[in-house]
Formats: sequence, structure tokens, C-alpha cells
Amino acid sequence: MNNKFHKDTETIHTGYESSSHHGSLAVPLYQTSTFAFETAEQGERRFAGEEEGGIYSRLGNPTVRVLEERMTALEKGEGTLAFGSGMAAVSAILTHLTKTGDHIVCSRGIYGCTFGLLTVMEQKYNITHTLTSMGTEEEIEAAITPETVCIYIESPINPTMELADLKAVSAVAKRHSLKIVVDNTFASPYLQNPIDFGADFVLHSATKYINGHGDVIAGLLVGRNKEDIDQIRGSVQKDYGGIMSPFDAWLLIRGLKTLSVRMQRHSENAEKFTEYLKTQDMVDAVFYPFDESNPQVSIAKNQMTVGGGLVSFTIKGGQQAAQTFMNELKLIKIAVSLGDAETLIQHPTTMTHSGVPETDRLKMGIDDGLLRLSAGLEHADDLIADLEQAFQNVAEQHKTLS
Ligand SMILES: *Cc1c(COP(=O)(O)O)cnc(C)c1O
Repeated sequence: MNNKFHKDTETIHTGYESSSHHGSLAVPLYQTSTFAFETAEQGERRFAGEEEGGIYSRLGNPTVRVLEERMTALEKGEGTLAFGSGMAAVSAILTHLTKTGDHIVCSRGIYGCTFGLLTVMEQKYNITHTLTSMGTEEEIEAAITPETVCIYIESPINPTMELADLKAVSAVAKRHSLKIVVDNTFASPYLQNPIDFGADFVLHSATKYINGHGDVIAGLLVGRNKEDIDQIRGSVQKDYGGIMSPFDAWLLIRGLKTLSVRMQRHSENAEKFTEYLKTQDMVDAVFYPFDESNPQVSIAKNQMTVGGGLVSFTIKGGQQAAQTFMNELKLIKIAVSLGDAETLIQHPTTMTHSGVPETDRLKMGIDDGLLRLSAGLEHADDLIADLEQAFQNVAEQHKTLS
């Protein structure tokens, strides 16, 4: 079953035939570390790659394989590898693509631990990187050196929701024969398929929208070409060993079934947040890809189907006002991570980006009053009422203070 159905159908059916599993409607959980061979010769054939079938779960597991096939269809690639965390997927692809002396061009904002990994690679292996804006071809061109081997991007970028123009990235990469890796965690495959725009690899922190229920840490790496994925499966993934457990894959299969309905609701709620926040006197700026006043809205509409579930905004009064506001919220939870059923709020300056030096943080556009909301699946009216009472309480406190 490949690509003849809509994504809404693929998230539920691809990669699984119940008739091969005693008719079990749900994908069975193969919670096993190893697989028994019927004969010594069968074991020999499996190891030689002459016969399909299980060997040992670090090399492949039937439950994990269903998830991998489903993701391959959703991201329109030719193969997928499942990892124990998003960071295991990031480190696997960067290890696969680079060697000592190479250079990586990255989007100006990247996930904090990806930034940490790039620092380790530079210090230990002399693999260097340049962070740049990805809005135009000129900006990307300027960062490329003779040693550059790949372009690594996120879009939308955490937490400012700045976009990388996937078309521009692809045009530059083609001219210089560079591989493109896209961390598609924020968009999810429901909103954006970077392979359609020329990406070679797409990765996800499956912890977020793919799972959607806040109870798993996991990662997925999809490849445009099967050969690349097979090579990583037989080397970096197998030998570094950061694989996904069958139980986590089982939970992800269950979560993924509702991806399309969840993404629609997340996006609707985020759009309502955007409209509401724009009317608030205490709010200086709102950042949302599909907001008509966003200078990058045409890029957003060119590469994403809807705006997604994340909205950032700056509150007047800096860190103190931001923290007071968060403490006043009753329904919305103060937590990092995103893409869960619960609406979450976090303060990048003191949380996800607290490790980034202040000057770099300001260059990334992270103001001390910036807050990031991950819209959950609750009723929008209840959420907006929560925001409303928090704004009122912060305003009252300001009045009494001054
Ligand atoms: C969370 C996240 C990661 C890291 O994923 P883990 O599953 O926590 O290891 C990488 N990239 C982005 C954009 C993320 O949000």
C-alpha cells in the first residue's frame, strides 16, 4: 500500500495486514529481544540477507517496522529508521553525512540539544558549522564553504516561528551538490513534506506531534532514497545502537492514527490564540506562520497546508511579566515539549534556550518577554478564558505596583 491513499488513511492502514497476524486489528506488540530460527541454515540465510525475517530487535522488529513503513508513506520517502529519541535520529544522520574537516550550514535557530551536538562535533572531530538565516538564496549561498557537505534546517524554527524557504534551500543545495536534512518536528508530516521540496532526509522528534500524547520519547528519520536508509540501518543505527523499543513503537502507532484530526484541531486552536493575542494591549508581537501580517506568510503558504499548533508572543514587561503571566494560568500547563493534548506554555529565555548566551539569544530574536504556546486539543473558549483571566491578573498586579 503506497501513496494511493490520503494521509488521513495512511496513518491508520499503511504497512500492516491483519491477515498475517491472526486477524489482529491492532498492530501486535512484538516485545522480544531476539527471534528463534527454525534451523541453523535459516539463521545463516537471515544473517546473509538472503531471507527476510527477524534476527535481533536492535536490527529490526515487526512492530517497529509497521511504524517505519507508515512514516515512509506519510513523508513520501523510500525508507524510515526508528530511534530511541529525536536526538538519536539527529546524531545518526549527522554522523552518517560528515567526517573530520567537513562543514554544515544550519538554520539560524535550531533545537538546543542539536546545537549542543554541533558543538561536540566541532570540538572532538573538527566538523564545523555556520548558522544563517534561510529566507533567501543569497543568505544561504553566503554561508557555504568548499568543505560544506550538507544543509541542516528546521522550519518553522523554535521558538520564533521564523521559516526557512524550502525552495530556496533546495535550489542552493542543488548548485553545490549538498544533502538537505530537515527537522520537520514542528510541522509534522500532515502540514509539510520537505521531500517534495528536494530534501534528502526528514527527521522528527516523534515525542511531539507524531505521538501526540506526551508519554514517549522517540525519533524517526525518513530518507528520500532507500539505499541511504539501508546503509544507515546497517551501520550508524546498528552500531551506535540508539534504537526505538517495540513498546514505544506500539504507542506511536496508536498515537499516529489520529495525527490528521489532531493537527487540524491544534492548528484551529493556535489560529484562535493568534487572533486573540493580537487584540491584547499587554502583547507586543505575535508570531504564527499563517498570520496574514507575518512577513513570511507567502513562504508559509507555499510549503505548509495549515499554520500548525505553535504560537509565540512577547509580553510587555520582560521576564518578570512573562513569569507572572505563566503563574496566573490555571488550565494551561507550564511545561516544555509540544504537540500534546494539553496546552503547554514555556519561557524560552529561562527554559529551552537558557543554555544559549544572551547575545546569541537576542540574535535569534528571543526576547526576555517571549512565551511559546503549544496549542492542545481542549475547547478554544476554555483556553482563551484562561489566557484572559491571566492577562487581567497581571494587569491588576501592575496597577498595584505602580
Ligand atoms: C524535541 C525536539 C528535538 C529532540 O527530540 P527528543 O525526542 O527530545 O530527543 C529535536 N528537534 C526539535 C525541533 C524538537 O522539538
